Amino acid sequence: YDGLRRALDLGPEGVVREVIESRLLGRGGAAFPTGKKWEALLTQRGLGRTHYIVCNADESEPGTFKDRVVIEGDPFAVLEGMTIAGLATGAQKGYIYLRGEYPLAAERLAHAIQAARAQGFLGNDILGRGLRFDIELRRGAGAYICGEETALFNSIEGYRGEPRNKPPFPTQAGLFRQPTVVNNVETLINVPEIIRTGGAAYARIGTGNSAGYRLFCLCGHVVRPGVYEVPFGATLRNLIDLAGGVGGNGRLQAVLLGGAAGAFVSPKELDTPLTFEGTRAIGATLGSGVIMLFDDSTDLKQVLLRIAGFFRHETCGQCVPCRVGTVRQHEALERLVKQRPLGSAAQEVGALREMAQAMRDASICGLGQTASTALESALNRWSLFE
Ligand code: SF4
Repeated sequence: YDGLRRALDLGPEGVVREVIESRLLGRGGAAFPTGKKWEALLTQRGLGRTHYIVCNADESEPGTFKDRVVIEGDPFAVLEGMTIAGLATGAQKGYIYLRGEYPLAAERLAHAIQAARAQGFLGNDILGRGLRFDIELRRGAGAYICGEETALFNSIEGYRGEPRNKPPFPTQAGLFRQPTVVNNVETLINVPEIIRTGGAAYARIGTGNSAGYRLFCLCGHVVRPGVYEVPFGATLRNLIDLAGGVGGNGRLQAVLLGGAAGAFVSPKELDTPLTFEGTRAIGATLGSGVIMLFDDSTDLKQVLLRIAGFFRHETCGQCVPCRVGTVRQHEALERLVKQRPLGSAAQEVGALREMAQAMRDASICGLGQTASTALESALNRWSLFE
């Protein structure tokens, strides 16, 4: 809790300044500058509205498990990061929205919240400084869409977990329609370190546009699956080496970066730096930090079909492009896999690409906008259906 003590000395403006200086970008997938988000709430102080901090721990992206490992290992780091965020933005209440399938993490968080209250790190008089901040734990019920920040608000408020239109953005009208900051678990655990060592020192770690450290979840055909932490700048090859190399039959066919909403890359792209700018340059994304390996015995068509089935199941059904598009996408892929396309395979692939474009352009939220990203990245790299 040295970070919190220093934050209390710095005051809200000082803390926001350090976080802006650190160039910390959100680790949940959207990569928004954390300090800017906090500043947006701080500037609304004194307008008589209640501010909230929400920790998004609804880690549901297939292949992602870093937040679970962090929470189970050090729940206090999350609480400390949230408390600093609360003090810096004028929020007196924080919610942790935890994935329902994480019972051990829930138990440890609940215990940590109690212990923090008992020691004066949460409550009505934090460390005797007369400041108030407390945290409530809420558990999801298994819907992938509730990881989308506005669906998450609805879920906490007791409504059906459907995304809201943006704008207004959460910093204007978020939880209970009040100004809200949503940060991912990994983003928040960087905060105590930034405040303790200073934003400038943190900004020197990593690369020009990607400062600090990043957690990656390696899974699939890899020798030692697990969570790996590296400074930004390490390449995909470095990460695979760290995890003991390619598993399975040892011959790498493809890597899925960023989970089901991410993109496939080929073995030719292993020297790509795993930074926001490096992955963008090859048309991929870091997303939630998933690195899923497939050896050359894997039938990629079946993997694509599985991903399409996942989105078909998880669409909330609120908007047409995604509700209809995810179903049609899955059906078209099924026909292609069974070699029974409508018309020729090329026509069916053309229709899939058109649907992908429509979903990307017209869906309300990230689920529909990214439901075809993996498929398109695979079509761009391999001739799967010719
Ligand atoms: Fe729901 Fe999909 Fe529309 Fe998002 S894009 S609001 S998940 S139907």
